[in-house]
Amino acid sequence: MKTFYAEEQKRHDPKAFLSMGAQKPNPEQPERVERLLLGARAAGSAIHRPANYGLGPIAAVHTPEYIEFLTHIFERWQRMEGASAEVIPNIHPFARNGSYPAGAAGQAGYHMADTACPISAETFDSACWSAWSAVAATEAVLSGEPAAYALCRPPGHHAFADVAGGFCFFNNSAIAAQRLRATASRVAILDVDLHHGNGTQGIFYARSDVLTVSLHADPSRFYPFFWGHADERGEGAGLGYNYNLPLPRKSGDAEFLEALDHAISRIQAFAPDALVVALGLDAFEGDPFGGLSVTTPGFSLIAQAIARLGLPTVIVQEGGYLCDALGDNLTAFLTGFAS
Ligand SMILES: [Zn+2]
Repeated sequence: MKTFYAEEQKRHDPKAFLSMGAQKPNPEQPERVERLLLGARAAGSAIHRPANYGLGPIAAVHTPEYIEFLTHIFERWQRMEGASAEVIPNIHPFARNGSYPAGAAGQAGYHMADTACPISAETFDSACWSAWSAVAATEAVLSGEPAAYALCRPPGHHAFADVAGGFCFFNNSAIAAQRLRATASRVAILDVDLHHGNGTQGIFYARSDVLTVSLHADPSRFYPFFWGHADERGEGAGLGYNYNLPLPRKSGDAEFLEALDHAISRIQAFAPDALVVALGLDAFEGDPFGGLSVTTPGFSLIAQAIARLGLPTVIVQEGGYLCDALGDNLTAFLTGFAS
């Protein structure tokens, strides 16, 4: 299986992070990439640089207002007297039915869901290359590869059509799914990250051509809190095309695999032509977020179960944070998928 990744993706280096009101180092560190590259290579995967696909594939799922905001916000932020080194909002519209502000501070609040996605000079470029890695992996699958892996960093599944959040700027999994729609009449996205893929759900919530399925720690007391509950099933034409499987905190391999059976059964009933796996490795028992207790061999079993669907598959990296086994967990998943 080929891996797609560009060096530019490592330049985004967020510093700030607020957790329960306390300032902490941002966990979405560039070093994640080094561990994941080692993990991909250990699985026998060669690393390929994606092409520059331009803004087209990104604009297929994100609004022009949002893309323009991300393109220029760092420079605009720096022009404000007393502004912080990174773009971090301090005010958010409690409902999104007000007016769109003209200034940088107001727009940052409008387009950034939380404080976990600070924007620096390198962020937009890194996010574009991350998205292009997803596009390149998708192109490989469209041209006949059974599966391809996009080492996307920064990650994407918390990004909505016009909102960044949770370390995410462009929704790489959604971009891959939309690209697959060029030839696939139906595409399923299976999100196995520790956190609910709220941005992905939001992008496809009213659509019946992309089924969104997410396994994650119960959001009642866990990020992203407001989404990921079992009663969120889609709306309008998309009603019945969103399936959330929240798991009790600290659930291990057995509970995860049992929920995965339900997810796979739903995907089979949708009869998709292609699959996107939003691969978070933060469900790991040793991940710093500590939400679930999947083991390294567990990731191999999860991959084997997904591979049995027999679908052309784009695997898109989402979360998974610095711990000794981060690379091993990716190796376990990629080798399990190919076995
Ligand atoms: Zn996550």
